[in-house]
Amino acid sequence: MALKSALIFLALTVSSISFGESPIPVKSLGSWTIVVAPDAIASEKYAAEEFRDLLKKATGMELAVSDSPRQATGNVFIGDGESFRKSSLAFGIEDLGEEGLHIRITPASIAIVGGRPRGTLYGVYECMERYLGVRFLTRDHTHFPSPSIAELPCEDHIYRPIFEFRWSYYKENSDAPDFAARMRVNTVTSDDKLGGRTRQELIGHTFGRYLPVEKYGKDHPEYFALVDGVRKLDSGGGGPEPCVSNPAVIDIISSNVLADLEADPHRKNISVSQNDNDAYCRCATCEAINKAEGTPMGSNLALVNAVADRVAEKFPGIKVGTLSYWYTRKPPKTIKPRENVQIQLCSIECCTFHPLNDPSCPKNREFCADMEGWKSICNDIWIWNYNTNFSSYDLPFPNLRAIGPNVRFFSENHVKGVFMQANGNGNAGEMSDLRNYVISRCLWNPSLESWPLAEEFCRLHYGAAAGKVIDYLALLHDNLEQSGNHPACFPTAAEVGLNADISTRAYRLIREAIALADNDEVKSRLEKFSIYPMKAVLETAATMSCDQGTFRCVLPDELKDVPRQYIDLCKRFNLTMAAETIPIEVYLDAVERAVEGIPALALENAVWRIKVIPEQNGRMVELFHKPSGKHMLAASGDQNHGISFRRGDCQELWGDPAMRNPKDAFTGEVSGSAIRMKRVLADGSVIQRTIRLEEGRPELVFNETTVTHQSDSPGNYQFKIRPEIDTYTTSNDPNVLSVLIKGKDWEQINQSWDKADGPNKDRLRLAQGGEYAFFNHEQHMGMKLTYHPEQATARLWWNPEWEQVNLELMTRLAQLTKGVSWSYDYTLEFLPEPPH
Ligand SMILES: [Zn+2]
Ligand SMILES: [Zn+2]
Repeated sequence: MALKSALIFLALTVSSISFGESPIPVKSLGSWTIVVAPDAIASEKYAAEEFRDLLKKATGMELAVSDSPRQATGNVFIGDGESFRKSSLAFGIEDLGEEGLHIRITPASIAIVGGRPRGTLYGVYECMERYLGVRFLTRDHTHFPSPSIAELPCEDHIYRPIFEFRWSYYKENSDAPDFAARMRVNTVTSDDKLGGRTRQELIGHTFGRYLPVEKYGKDHPEYFALVDGVRKLDSGGGGPEPCVSNPAVIDIISSNVLADLEADPHRKNISVSQNDNDAYCRCATCEAINKAEGTPMGSNLALVNAVADRVAEKFPGIKVGTLSYWYTRKPPKTIKPRENVQIQLCSIECCTFHPLNDPSCPKNREFCADMEGWKSICNDIWIWNYNTNFSSYDLPFPNLRAIGPNVRFFSENHVKGVFMQANGNGNAGEMSDLRNYVISRCLWNPSLESWPLAEEFCRLHYGAAAGKVIDYLALLHDNLEQSGNHPACFPTAAEVGLNADISTRAYRLIREAIALADNDEVKSRLEKFSIYPMKAVLETAATMSCDQGTFRCVLPDELKDVPRQYIDLCKRFNLTMAAETIPIEVYLDAVERAVEGIPALALENAVWRIKVIPEQNGRMVELFHKPSGKHMLAASGDQNHGISFRRGDCQELWGDPAMRNPKDAFTGEVSGSAIRMKRVLADGSVIQRTIRLEEGRPELVFNETTVTHQSDSPGNYQFKIRPEIDTYTTSNDPNVLSVLIKGKDWEQINQSWDKADGPNKDRLRLAQGGEYAFFNHEQHMGMKLTYHPEQATARLWWNPEWEQVNLELMTRLAQLTKGVSWSYDYTLEFLPEPPH
């Protein structure tokens, strides 16, 4: 009999067995009763209400809810209980865990019964989706098919989610826990009615908590990482890394971990993991382990295992989670995680457009190799995956084709927990409603495909306009595919394939979609959607043009209204964050200023044309070399559009965050052949900057800064000078692009750089010649920066994909008393041939 064979499948994740009976007409349920046991838990009672309410909306029939059957047949049992167990449908729930579910549909009765505390509630939602075609699209929009589904198949359906921890990180979930429950996201609420949250916590950085530097740093510096010969106590990212091989460190971390577990007996895992910096310990003992194991994860995992052994002794069944992140992503050669250790891999370096296991994507191969390595030694892997543009929350981020394959890839590799990080600390980020729908459904059921889910969302949410929205999605994805780019999770607009043409076409499609809206509600949804192509327009189709000393945003006629519309829509739909750490007000202010006009100062001689914006930290946004026709700063070149000169400028940044805020402006003027700018700080201290050209040396751009301290208490000043110079090549071939620094003589320093990830900091620091440069041998152009080694140190940064080398300087730290001034200066010079 079919019922018996169903039991054989209990061990599997999903099984659906047809009883071979004729389907039940849905109409016949009209006289049935919903039965929920009097001693049911809160989430099961709520499940019965949800079943009643959703069935009514789906079919028009309202069933009574009772705590006992009114007749022998015609019952819908919701949740375990005495009457269910006495019924002909009875089955056990021992193997269903906390959220596995079992739906049994027979002509006599129906049972939706799951493990506690969430299985039954999730069973009701699974039943609605699977049998009645219901779709939970957003918190305000649940789709019910019309006409309603006519028949229910007689079958047994058993489902256990593959992932025990599922988090689609969007406000769509965290602000609406009842909707999150419908999406079966089990990480956002402790409300018992909704089944609460999984008792496993997201794995995060905790060494700072378990070995606080404030407590141990002074008396026991040897507890902390030895870096460059010193015990490093001032690393950022939550505190210094421990010396993980020190037995006293292992004892302290273990006892603090055990104390946390004693204080919270309900939790099922605990994080024991590196802080967020790469200053890990290089002492002889740690290094020996790391060398033998081929990765700094060697010594880290040895510590985690030691802690895990002590946890296993006192708290059997509790897992110890640790990050496999950045320098610890590669598994060790011989050390294996203990049975009770969870390894959480983070994909932050990966390409977000191609699926992680797409063999054609060069950027993801290493991650796959690491995953393969961990899979062979660990059966409780967790994933931290990245699903938004963290530097622009509302810019199109075409990764919808990768989500499904990625989640499926996780499901095939012993993964038990998935954190899909997105713009969850902001409201109304790019397609957040659509994306949350796709991600949440894939996490619950990794066999689903993300692209068809996105299309389904469009059809059900945007009605007659859906075709245009799907065309829009296809345009952006096809275009990025053709670009050959591999964007990670902080991409520029160009890296995700956006340019003026694509953004304009995308914007047109959504305008056409709005014109097709069936009603005001759908129109409003599409207006919200239009924020995202508008952002693309602002970042790619808008250019900043300087006329009579004022930069203004210039757009083709068709797009002229976009800046104002964008500002209005962001406010109307309460878009709150422009990026992970930038409130939308900052960006809206930049849009306002770009429309109103931003005063600039200009300087020009036979060699150079220079433009500076005093109110934006006095940054230089144009450095045009007339003889060669090269824009040395991309901010004003052909490549870089957008209303905010996002990159490719020359700035001097100060440790004080206020200094970085464009609102804290310099004032300035052009006098003779110099731009002179001044900023008075809150305490009366003064920063003066001069950028000037000299008649006798027209090829040089002189930069001079003077700080005069005026406060009674001493002040600390240190500046990062950051000229982001355009290299005119994406090559990282040292024969195409040389980076050179002068010691006694000029020395090329980028011959052996892997993936352009140099530089050798020591070589930069030790070179005392006071000059450094890059040179593009194909274009016969380069830039030289001349400085005083006693004032500042060279700090190179290079991104070939951005065609950019930053010839950065970090000044020494100046400690000034009242009335004392301090100055530094440097020059920039175009190179028509390599320096010699
Ligand atoms: Zn050590
Ligand atoms: Zn790729």
